[in-house]
Amino acid sequence: MFHVFPCSCFTLTKASILLRQLMRVSSWDQLFSVLGKKIWKTWAPGKCSFFMCLVAHERCWTADRLERRALPHPESCPMCDQAPESINHLLVGCAFAREFWFHFFSQVGLRTFSPQFSDTSFFDWWERASNDISGLLLQGFNSLTILGAWTIWTQRNRCVFDGASPDVARALTLASEERKLWSMSGAQGISFLIAPTSVD
Ligand SMILES: [Zn+2]
Repeated sequence: MFHVFPCSCFTLTKASILLRQLMRVSSWDQLFSVLGKKIWKTWAPGKCSFFMCLVAHERCWTADRLERRALPHPESCPMCDQAPESINHLLVGCAFAREFWFHFFSQVGLRTFSPQFSDTSFFDWWERASNDISGLLLQGFNSLTILGAWTIWTQRNRCVFDGASPDVARALTLASEERKLWSMSGAQGISFLIAPTSVD
């Protein structure tokens, strides 16, 4: 007889708990909100969507994860050198990230949505920031959030692996160029945000 689960004690309830633990989310609502409403339904290149899934799973090789695996790791965040590195610190808690988000969203009139000093969870901030918007504005905001996170991650890797210095201006230039490419490639929400009549 075929069994879906490896033994009779592995119930759907336990499978549910295991999956939510793997996703590092506390409820199915949050899981579907993160994956369903945000990552899977947001226009972004596949490599960036895949990266966001790794963020949701906390599977990025930041210092905290390397330390848990007893692997060599930087003692502090390579972008600010002021705090231990985790994916949440890197994307919203870091001084580099906060400055980047502020200027990045300011370019399209969304500076009020930037992470604040009190924000410590990337997905909590994303959820809260997107609660009051809808339609093309929300689509554009979600695409830009994925683009911004991807930009911070690639700049972090450039510092770690290439010995570069953190450079917010460079990150903003690269993100701006990429934003135009995403818009031309079909990201309607971004096209809406950068249109002359967009909300400021
Ligand atoms: Zn930092």
